[in-house]
Amino acid sequence: MPGKYTVAIDGPAGAGKSTVARGVALALGYRYVDTGSMYRAVTLLALERNVDLTEGEALTELANNAKIDIIEGREKNIIVLLNGADVTEKIRDPLVTKNVSRVASVPGVRKVLVAAQSAMAEGGGVVMEGRDIGTVVIPDADFKFFIVASARERAARRSRDLEKMGYPVDLEKLTEEIESRDYLDSSREINPLRPAEDAEIIDCTGMTAGEVIDLIVKRVTEGRT
Ligand code: C5P
Repeated sequence: MPGKYTVAIDGPAGAGKSTVARGVALALGYRYVDTGSMYRAVTLLALERNVDLTEGEALTELANNAKIDIIEGREKNIIVLLNGADVTEKIRDPLVTKNVSRVASVPGVRKVLVAAQSAMAEGGGVVMEGRDIGTVVIPDADFKFFIVASARERAARRSRDLEKMGYPVDLEKLTEEIESRDYLDSSREINPLRPAEDAEIIDCTGMTAGEVIDLIVKRVTEGRT
């Protein structure tokens, strides 16, 4: 295994971060952590328990008491357990996707999840993916990447994923939803989506996931910090 580095991969919704981060983790033999799945799990819990999504305190309490485990399955596919129950598929439901940015904008929720994520990165050998990994969760990460792609291309990718899961898709609506999520994620006061100053920005519009994975693995194996 090349080193025991921490690799932070950030970027907007649908830029292909998950596929890329998982591929990089697989190639390096590192642990893969999808932090978005944790925000999704808290959102699912809030929806299931009918918690008002404008109630920051109630959401923070929910996050504080929730037990979220990320377990590695085959090929670095992750299984997400929420209070012991497998919610891997449920957290991808469009209703969760629609509401997650609101939950993620609550400072108390972020505090709880960021602390858990920082602890997971301790000791290295981790590829962590999200929005604020290089800026907040692991500010001293050995490698930081910020992946971008046009909103249209990101919507097209999401639509392929959703179709595979059997959800109906409308490309126009998906593009709008992605742009609105970008806006919410970038304009929130706490830990907004933005590249760390020392992150390498990769525009992967027109690149295959394999090409992006190869580029990142090359950087890490060359040991350039
Ligand atoms: O990565 P994914 O699209 O599954 O993330 C879902 C949402 O969780 C994002 O739109 C964002 O609002 C939030 N998120 C975040 N910080 C992270 C990861 C995800 O705010 N580190």
